[in-house]
Amino acid sequence: MYDILVKDEEAVVVREIFDLYASRGLGAKTVAREMTSRGIRNQHGNEFTQSTVRHMLGNCIYRGILRSGDTYSQVFEHLRIVDNVTWLRTQELLESRKTAWQETTKLPRVVRGEALLSGNIICGHCGAHMTATSVVSRGCKVLRYICNSGNKYVHKCDGQRSYGAKTVDGIVTKLLLELFGTLADVSNVGILKRRLNLSLSENKAAHVAAIRHLTKKESELADLKSEVVKVIRGESKFSVGLLNEAIEIAEREVTRLREEVTALETALTNSTIKSDEFVRQHGEYIHWAQVFADADRSEQKMIAARMIERVEVRRGMEISVTWKADADAWRNAATDLGAETAHYSEEACAV
Ligand SMILES: [Zn+2]
Repeated sequence: MYDILVKDEEAVVVREIFDLYASRGLGAKTVAREMTSRGIRNQHGNEFTQSTVRHMLGNCIYRGILRSGDTYSQVFEHLRIVDNVTWLRTQELLESRKTAWQETTKLPRVVRGEALLSGNIICGHCGAHMTATSVVSRGCKVLRYICNSGNKYVHKCDGQRSYGAKTVDGIVTKLLLELFGTLADVSNVGILKRRLNLSLSENKAAHVAAIRHLTKKESELADLKSEVVKVIRGESKFSVGLLNEAIEIAEREVTRLREEVTALETALTNSTIKSDEFVRQHGEYIHWAQVFADADRSEQKMIAARMIERVEVRRGMEISVTWKADADAWRNAATDLGAETAHYSEEACAV
């Protein structure tokens, strides 16, 4: 069904599509448009469409897995085009966009495409989810976020029921842009990367040390075992009991060290993936920071959904935003580093 050998040109196109979708945060439709505008066609010579892109993004052949019906092969590295991190991120995005779409289609009152927040805005008084609704006020259509407690006639929440979406979205957008400002501060990026590489090299050093230790213990064990022959010949200073005990101890030690080496190998792989993921994600934040202001509403919503865990609104437009855990981790790291950098530059000035 497909050409088993990975063609270089095709691989470049596939990687670009996954990159635009998973790292740049574009939707399948925009990716298709982008490829068309660059004059790139699919393997059949046709223009890319939203559905061909979507199909490609879910096709496991690109991570080197062959599929026949419900049966999947192991991973064939020589067939792989997309790395695991990108693949997983893509699947996660496909899934979240699917659910977001299902949620909005289930709720016909939601004005799709207009309100920035959906599914992640909560009433700060009763904890109920809020829905974006279009209300006609003095002949004008106004978009409002409404607390879902109770119904149209009985409001079961002691807080404010409805908030102007334009104001809420404006405040949230301002906070989001401030966060992007912190995240995209280039003075932090170098230090963060260096810090990541540092922890990676610490892991590497621990791994090398553990292997050295293991090799030494293994050769000690081999020596002890060769001593057995000498004991039998009566040429050794060891007694049989003492030698057996020493061998047992050395064997236990070797087993323990082998386990340690395996654990360190796993940690090393994980921290490499983590470091790759960290750097890739930062690229994503920088990209979003650049495009957010000019993006169309659906892209802004998607970016907001990726950054925001929850927005709580209380009477008097009191708004608090909880960022997604990874965005928050980046924010904390950047804030720490900001302080660190300021400290260093002060020292530099003092000198
Ligand atoms: Zn409420």
